[in-house]
Amino acid sequence: MAVIASDAGYCPIELGTAMEKIVVDGNRRKYTQLGRTLRFYGGTTSATEVGCNLRCKFCFSDKPVWKPARTGRFYTPEQVFYGLAKNARRHGHKTISASASEGTLGRDHLFELLDLVEQSEFVYILETNGMTLGADSDFARQLARYKNLHVRVSLKGSNEDEYHELTGANRHSYRLPFLALKHLIDADVSCNACVMASFSSDVSLAGLKHALTDLHPGILKSLEIEHITLFPKVRERLKRYQLTPTKSRRLSRQQPNQPEAA
Ligand code: SF4
Repeated sequence: MAVIASDAGYCPIELGTAMEKIVVDGNRRKYTQLGRTLRFYGGTTSATEVGCNLRCKFCFSDKPVWKPARTGRFYTPEQVFYGLAKNARRHGHKTISASASEGTLGRDHLFELLDLVEQSEFVYILETNGMTLGADSDFARQLARYKNLHVRVSLKGSNEDEYHELTGANRHSYRLPFLALKHLIDADVSCNACVMASFSSDVSLAGLKHALTDLHPGILKSLEIEHITLFPKVRERLKRYQLTPTKSRRLSRQQPNQPEAA
């Protein structure tokens, strides 16, 4: 008799709605800081936002994801933009972003922030796990009016079983970042995909590449393959969940910055 996989696990869209009640207040969103230098993109400035609609067991972002009610302060889009711009101008960075949580929570806040970026010399990198963008094609169309924007859609695992094990979310929602990429490409929004592959086999990764090629020929050219960094909290959490990465990066003195997340 065939075994039908159950769709146990939380719904990221429902979790996102619940998180927005905690980390969004009108056009304000919670952050823990507004402008630090990261080594990515040859040097970039990033704010640390609070609140995510996934609970990835490998996530380096601790309190912003796991304790959003007790973490950070509310900031207006203007405060966030000027915090980012100040650090970026001081260091000559061309890109700015927010990281360590999910970038699409608080849509009004995001749009007002992007309005300010649009009048500036910067490009904003929207870090997202693709859940909200996949569930609502209007969102991508609304983003299409911004030219100083690039969306980085991060897939958590190479197939829905990996995704479910890594995030605890229902398997069904694994399709959402694929839909997000499709909506963004259809709306002509600059975007690329990346995948957390630390728990993937060569076979599952090859399957993912096949699925992405089916979605859009050429998308593999900009695919980023990510591996976790074993920060102490990450190592501890993975041990608790009995998850062993096949590939990871060790924390070193040459690697002082945390990676981007969503
Ligand atoms: S890795 Fe990204 S999507 Fe996953 S919990 Fe952390 S911030 Fe959220």
